[in-house]
Amino acid sequence: MKKIALVTGGGSGIGRATAHAFADVGATVVVADCNKSAADATVEAIVGKSRQAISVAVDVSVASSVREMVRVIDNRYGRLDWAFNNAAIMPRKADLVDLSEEEWDRLMDINLKGPWLCMKHEIPLMLKSGGGAIVNTASMNGLVALPAAAGYVASKFGVIGLSKSAAIDYAARGIRINAVCPGMTETPMFATAAAERSADASAIAGLLPIGRIGTPEEIAQAVVWLCSDQASYLVGHALVVDGGFTSL
Ligand code: NAD
Repeated sequence: MKKIALVTGGGSGIGRATAHAFADVGATVVVADCNKSAADATVEAIVGKSRQAISVAVDVSVASSVREMVRVIDNRYGRLDWAFNNAAIMPRKADLVDLSEEEWDRLMDINLKGPWLCMKHEIPLMLKSGGGAIVNTASMNGLVALPAAAGYVASKFGVIGLSKSAAIDYAARGIRINAVCPGMTETPMFATAAAERSADASAIAGLLPIGRIGTPEEIAQAVVWLCSDQASYLVGHALVVDGGFTSL
């Protein structure tokens, strides 16, 4: 049976590349994003390759919106096999004392509450259809800090903890849950963060053991593998895909 795969943040960067990668292995992909026209563009490109995808507007920080996203999938397909909870934001560069309470709350609502809300609604549908696999996007900054990004780093450490906890609770019920920890990856989010830090691409590449920034497609391949039966014994793992940065 054709796999049904959900990608949040599928309108850009790593999410868009993963939506393509899921479609390329034969899945029907639900591309969800708060930027509906960006999600539509991803779907158009996938359908243009004669593969299957639909778009859904979602704000992952809003419970009713996430519930509706999963309801759409249930109504249309009656099942969910793979979910990539990937949508997140990177706030402006700021020392933690300069971050406002509103900025902190918004960051946590999207980056940490978002994956929790997604799993809260995805898991019952997966259980209904006999199990599945979930990957949450953390970051190498879920393992090591980044200057002037305390909230982002805290949210990503949280995503790893959330993923491990969820993983041990649902492994015996047929749902494998893992996290992926991208390193520096060429996306709009990365470009904005690098510009704020006045870091040019070649200087950043020089910091990496592999000597270059990663591509969204390289993260996507790791996500597809984590969801696949090839990774059948991976539970609660935080897979680092960072060109060696955190091994330095
Ligand atoms: P991106 O900004 O290119 O894409 C993020 C997508 O998420 C956008 O389409 C955006 O519209 C969507 N989004 C944002 N808030 C949302 C919300 N509330 N509800 C639904 N959709 C929302 O970013 P990216 O670089 O592709 O990042 C994807 C993931 O990878 C994020 O979790 C990010 O933290 C993580 N990550 C990225 C890097 C990197 O270097 N690019 C490194 C480590 C981790």
